[in-house]
Amino acid sequence: MGNCNHEDGLSASQNPSFRPDAPVGESCNHFRKGVAFLVLGHYISCGYIGNLMDSNLEHIFDDAYWMEQALSEAEGAMEAGEVPVGAILVHGNEVIGRGRNQVEALQDPTAHAEMIAITSSVEALKSRRLTDTTLYVTLEPCPMCAGAIVLARIGRLVYGAWDPKAGACGTLMNLLAEPRLNHQPEVVGGVLADRCGEILSHFFQRLRASEPPGKRPPGTG
Ligand SMILES: [Zn+2]
Repeated sequence: MGNCNHEDGLSASQNPSFRPDAPVGESCNHFRKGVAFLVLGHYISCGYIGNLMDSNLEHIFDDAYWMEQALSEAEGAMEAGEVPVGAILVHGNEVIGRGRNQVEALQDPTAHAEMIAITSSVEALKSRRLTDTTLYVTLEPCPMCAGAIVLARIGRLVYGAWDPKAGACGTLMNLLAEPRLNHQPEVVGGVLADRCGEILSHFFQRLRASEPPGKRPPGTG
């Protein structure tokens, strides 16, 4: 650091390089630090850094990020011997509800991942309307769950694999685009579809291998 005329918040006696007779604008570390703070202050005040942080958060918390969490629920279902379907409900950047298929454990044909996630979210938000939420589910919802999505006024549905046997959000029918119903959420299908489908294929392959010929596996919902 050369001699300079910048006090840099320090008194002349604390700044060992301070020289009141140095030329104004002399290039030194104090000067460069001052410029850096001015530039930083400008970017903060004009919103550039805030926007940069927001766009990075959007990148981090994208649909694939949340679908990974729904896949974790599906893996939990598989470990419990259930058809591996998982769901989470997100409000802002927060998970407010989770669910995994529990049809066998509860002996309840309505215990689909989406239904459990919706019920737990309603309890968390203390509201039966989930307008500003996004439901992430690893498998395209069936007619029952699509109906629950409409009733709960869920704003956005993101699903992974398509369901050729029961999909009611584009495959067999599309209840969520039905104009005669009073709510049509935004729908995105096929997010991490390969992995969401593979976990199901893997489960059914193992089930078939372990069961006597002729016995049918349980439905996927
Ligand atoms: Zn369902």
